[in-house]
Amino acid sequence: MNPKSQKEETNNKNGIYDAGIEKGASRLTPEKIRKVFDALVEAEGGARLKAYTNACVHCGLCSDACHHFLSKDRDPRLSPAGKVKQTVSRILNKKAKLDVDFVKQACETVFTECNLCRRCVIYCPFGIDVAYLMLFVRRGCHQLGVVPQYIQDTAHSHASTFNQMWVRDDEWIDTLQWQEEEARDEIPDLRIPIDKKGSDIFYSLIGPEPKFRAQLIYQMAVIFHMAGADWTVPSAPGWDNSDMCMFTGDMEMTARLKKIHFEAAMDLKAKRIVMGECGHAFRSVYDVGNRTLGWKMPPLPMVHAIEFYAEILREKRIEIPKKFDRPVAFHDPCNIVRGRGLGDEARYVINETCSTFIELTPNREHNFCCGAGGGVINCGPPFKNKRVESNRVKADQLAAARDKGAEVLIAPCHNCHGGLEDIIHHYELGLELKFLGDIIYECMKKE
Ligand code: SF4
Ligand code: SF4
Ligand code: SF4
Repeated sequence: MNPKSQKEETNNKNGIYDAGIEKGASRLTPEKIRKVFDALVEAEGGARLKAYTNACVHCGLCSDACHHFLSKDRDPRLSPAGKVKQTVSRILNKKAKLDVDFVKQACETVFTECNLCRRCVIYCPFGIDVAYLMLFVRRGCHQLGVVPQYIQDTAHSHASTFNQMWVRDDEWIDTLQWQEEEARDEIPDLRIPIDKKGSDIFYSLIGPEPKFRAQLIYQMAVIFHMAGADWTVPSAPGWDNSDMCMFTGDMEMTARLKKIHFEAAMDLKAKRIVMGECGHAFRSVYDVGNRTLGWKMPPLPMVHAIEFYAEILREKRIEIPKKFDRPVAFHDPCNIVRGRGLGDEARYVINETCSTFIELTPNREHNFCCGAGGGVINCGPPFKNKRVESNRVKADQLAAARDKGAEVLIAPCHNCHGGLEDIIHHYELGLELKFLGDIIYECMKKE
């Protein structure tokens, strides 16, 4: 290997090579970096940025909230306030030198050393939202064209096709029809209604489902059918509710994605959106997407699958003749429980469907992130080992539940599944992962 290619093989800092960071940074100059960040602070900084950065008294109470800090021997560089100091504080200090190495380091910090999980927010006496500050820096990285390659590829796919997996329109319809055919072997009158106007429910899900986990579409169709739900899915783009652009800082694209999602539901005159089991997609619809579009609230009611499951169980629209009989633990996804308070609804569903429930400690809004969220898993293979090692505390938490007897870990979020699978495998925890829909489908009466 000649010296030049050897240099290209690794990022300077820690031996990880990421083409999106290296090639993007190679086009920058200190002048351009300063200009872009100064313009961003001027245009989008606002009162929130100033309030958060001025309010921090460096008390360090947020440190023990962060799984990166705890998992890496309390490295102060990985504390939430430490991450702010290395990134936002330098950007706001007009005298600080912002060179190419700063951008590469800041990019790696905000994209791979923070999951935007907001656990630190609830431990800060001033409620400083470090996740917001990290996202602010990601926005600057996006404007500089320095973004880890894998997540940028997903964002490009979404920008081009309106779904993150580059599923073609005809493949989407084929998958729905294929799943309907499969389900009709089990339930002959089951339909997957496409473009049905005026339905009670517009069902949306994330791109990887038709691509890799089509059985989840099958299962949800069976649950809808048995619950007697009036539902539909669109044939046109708008069905993928996921949103990596929210995490790359491409808010213009996020606005387009959420607009097409909401408009697909409104064009079909649906009464509400029911979303599949995903956390970040849910956050993008209940919180970020609507505000990015300038709307205080989403333009029509929307619920996460957990809320729909709780509703049909409460209303006795499905029957559970025999509960799931292996001991289960439950991972509270941050975007669903810390962000939206659905911990009770999730526990209601679990207690209605499972015979033995073992709580993780900590749990609910105090639960540790899976380490995948905030787009960290989407930064891809270059950062996989680092991600898993940065969440040893999650492995310890899961091991404690396993030692109490848990065999199955339920996580109602696709990203959580990705992160937890890697942790279970790496730390040899021997837990089986399931969605809530898996449990309901397995236990419900289907005739
Ligand atoms: S948002 Fe989560 S990952 Fe990021 S600094 Fe806070 S606790 Fe750590
Ligand atoms: S807890 Fe809040 S005030 Fe204290 S260091 Fe962390 S961000 Fe700053
Ligand atoms: S993947 Fe799950 S636990 Fe991790 S940030 Fe997203 S919702 Fe939270």
